[in-house]
Amino acid sequence: MTPSPKVLVVDLNNFASYPTLAIGSLVASLRNAEMDVTVLCPLSHDVPAMVRERQEGWKDQLQRWVFFSTNPALNWSRHGVRALRSWWISRPHPRVMQEVTCALEKKPDIVLLSVYLNHYPSCVEIGKLAAKHGIPVLLGGPVFNIELITKEWLRVPGLTALIGGEVDRTLPDLVRDTIAGKDLLKYEGVFYPDGRRSPTPAPLKDLSSLPVPDFTDFPWGAYPGRVIPAMAGRGCSWGRCKFCADVYTANGRTFRTRAVTPMLDELVELSKRHKSKNFILLDIKLNSDVRMWRGLIENFQNRIPGAGWVATVHVDQRPDNGLSKEDLLAARQSGLMRINFGLESGSQALLDKMDKGCKVESNSRFITDAYDAGLSVRVSMMQGYPGETTEDLQMTVKFLQEHRPQLDRIRLSQFKAIPGTRFQEEFDRDPQSYPDVSRFSWDYRDARGKFRYNTASSRKYRRAKRQLLSIVHSINKRPLRPGAEEFDGLM
Ligand code: SF4
Repeated sequence: MTPSPKVLVVDLNNFASYPTLAIGSLVASLRNAEMDVTVLCPLSHDVPAMVRERQEGWKDQLQRWVFFSTNPALNWSRHGVRALRSWWISRPHPRVMQEVTCALEKKPDIVLLSVYLNHYPSCVEIGKLAAKHGIPVLLGGPVFNIELITKEWLRVPGLTALIGGEVDRTLPDLVRDTIAGKDLLKYEGVFYPDGRRSPTPAPLKDLSSLPVPDFTDFPWGAYPGRVIPAMAGRGCSWGRCKFCADVYTANGRTFRTRAVTPMLDELVELSKRHKSKNFILLDIKLNSDVRMWRGLIENFQNRIPGAGWVATVHVDQRPDNGLSKEDLLAARQSGLMRINFGLESGSQALLDKMDKGCKVESNSRFITDAYDAGLSVRVSMMQGYPGETTEDLQMTVKFLQEHRPQLDRIRLSQFKAIPGTRFQEEFDRDPQSYPDVSRFSWDYRDARGKFRYNTASSRKYRRAKRQLLSIVHSINKRPLRPGAEEFDGLM
């Protein structure tokens, strides 16, 4: 009998709160194919994990002042602090490298790396180590279907191939063929370092019969709560926001959903396995298909009595988006504890520029209804989208002042220009349509556009921005509303 292939999966995503869903799915697919899988999870080796969000203190506000500063006199010091922070976050962690070295000495047949873009330096080091042992390396991640990014990453040493696509069903065969040294170009989405590549795969249409993710390798005792990640569908039914990169990733392209019953069956199974009734639904827009959204709401407590969960929605303009007052009350009764949505701005003109598909009044009503239903409301927001004026910022401040008591957390980020987005398409086609953007250049390895947003340097704009930062901090420094604490720091 041929021995089972020995697969080393290195999870470079060191999240503090729950296991990495993508790794759990890959591992399940490999183990179902009788492979001998080892998962190297940094948190299991006491590597400090990334905390997504927490009740803020003065240091968080200070950091935000520095990062959001657009004062021209502080340009150099701000860039210096940012560069230092980014180097620190993405540096290969010595403990992880030590554990990878030990794991490679056990002679796995292959190394699989599932990565985000800040992992480049770690991938380089792991690639070199694997090459020393003559072990093939496959590297994959959500953005590797975007060719300009992929080309940069093909420079990682020791790389056998880079995979840009959803490999839920093909991974075991890909792994076997890689170990056997066979040509991988018969699989779609494969890039070789020498420039050969196969066609881009179409998004996986049928999400039924995907294996239940295997999270048994994760250090459950190290997480503050036992929260299980899950996903009901891939992509977003709107998919038009100009800044959004999620809908261009390998698994975010086009919206596809599972059926309600198999989804609930999976949640029940995971709840039994991991002895927990708490879930985070990682869909980028869980109300994309209101049948799934309502199906979960109607059945969560029947199937898992006492369950608690959190989710992200989009307050879109469909006549029925599943987010009425009644829906939100029912959602709370079904165990939904926290709800997150992309508010982005309190200015309709700016939301329209982004093609966000939202109305300020609907966002306002949604926040009030969700709060009244007993939900902890979290919003993500964006500052510095090209075209944002001082007046737009002032409207956002006013909006937040009005809703301050109803909001539990705000995730405020600065606009990032990302390759593959509608923003890139428009900007590259006609830079003049963004007259306030200057000194633009793309960095494909880090998947970022570097530029200057001239409007942001003016005194009036900066004053409005300071008000925005203050109100965000005044909200984020409060504890979460009672009952939701167990779900803090997840989103
Ligand atoms: S609604 Fe959210 S997920 Fe959908 S395109 Fe907009 S930002 Fe992206």
